[in-house]
Amino acid sequence: MRYYSTRNDLEAVNFAAAALRGLASDGGLFVPEEIPCYRPAVISSLLSMDFFDIAFETIRPFVHPEIPDSALKDMVSSAFTFPVPVVPVSNRFVMELFHGPTAAFKDFGARFMARAFSYLRRGETKPLKILVATSGDTGGAVASGFLGVEGITVTVLYPKGRVSPLQEKQIAGLGGNVSALAVEGSFDDCQRLVKLAFSNKNIRTKFDMSSANSINIARLIPQTVYYTFGAAAFVKSRNKNPVFCVPSGNFGNLTAGLYAMMMGAPADRFVAATNINKTFPDYLESGAYEARLSEATISNAMDVGAPSNFERMKAHWTLEEMRRLILSVFITDDETRSTIKDVHEKYGYSLDPHGAVGWTAVDKLDKKKLLPAERAVILETAHPAKFAEVVEPLTGPVPLPPQLAEADRRNAVFTAIPADINALVDVLQ
Ligand SMILES: *Cc1c(COP(=O)(O)O)cnc(C)c1O
Repeated sequence: MRYYSTRNDLEAVNFAAAALRGLASDGGLFVPEEIPCYRPAVISSLLSMDFFDIAFETIRPFVHPEIPDSALKDMVSSAFTFPVPVVPVSNRFVMELFHGPTAAFKDFGARFMARAFSYLRRGETKPLKILVATSGDTGGAVASGFLGVEGITVTVLYPKGRVSPLQEKQIAGLGGNVSALAVEGSFDDCQRLVKLAFSNKNIRTKFDMSSANSINIARLIPQTVYYTFGAAAFVKSRNKNPVFCVPSGNFGNLTAGLYAMMMGAPADRFVAATNINKTFPDYLESGAYEARLSEATISNAMDVGAPSNFERMKAHWTLEEMRRLILSVFITDDETRSTIKDVHEKYGYSLDPHGAVGWTAVDKLDKKKLLPAERAVILETAHPAKFAEVVEPLTGPVPLPPQLAEADRRNAVFTAIPADINALVDVLQ
């Protein structure tokens, strides 16, 4: 498969270059030259395929030939080591994407990307350093994804005292090839330092560097897999195609879902559910795209006013096509809180604030007769225990799942540095 930049369709690169570079040289995002289709034999046997078979068939055309079949099989079986339950709750389904090591769906992308990087750089003698700035969640998923991967070291920068104690342990408790820097400053300072490090000659001569950020195509492609898997599970049970409801921030997850549908996954439509950062629902309604500053909400992983994957969506689909494929709704914090409480009371199911945005969006569309809730599969993107401070006052205690309890027992080991590029350069050398 060849990839080109969203800002220039002349310069095509292969999967290896698109993944390792992350961003095109003109600042655009890499998109596949065409979205592949499943082979007819795959479509006809989808309902009997397991997660690994679906993962292999889904990812293969995107990475062929740079990742050969045998290597890809190893990658998917070592990356996706946790279940993806599609469970009925009330009159709809919830697809639980939080059973990975950091209890959020970002594990799918981070774990696959780590293995892809390692394979694509085999034989390389210069070490690769991944630098990530995080406000909390992404750092943990990337650190965990790359833990123990040979030839690659990870340095996570986070704002000291501004992540939760559990998040700090997820970032700074791993050891091995992962190191943690607690920056005396804000998340913006962390991001600024990462950018400065990328242009620092002393560092660049020692290491190859990559940022592993969320717009990397190697993080997006593995996310297509669970849509096809979830669609097959829904068809088996309801004999109809589902509509996926995706709690969205940067719209990488939704874009991956659209790829799955274009490939031939039996899905009918998508719901893009946002919090009050409603740039996308406003765009579908008015036809005018207006990025804005983000506002803080209780579903904070979706606090994005300028969704970075919008550029990718625009490269593939017109406004009219997006209106056909996607319904979009925004939800307030008050509505999210009352959903968390109601769903727990009525059905004994604990939603996290992001999944609750999705649930509420389905309720709204059902009331307006735009989408019967019976057709919906809501993506639950994180475990509610990750957002205990929001969820517990509404539902009572939420026990930590095993992987978070394990992280909670670790000791955070980090180096504190001032928000100063010279301090970062010293530590990295
Ligand atoms: C990152 C994240 C989202 C948003 O996903 P996008 O791909 O950025 O739209 C939603 N929920 C949780 C828990 C997340 O961590």
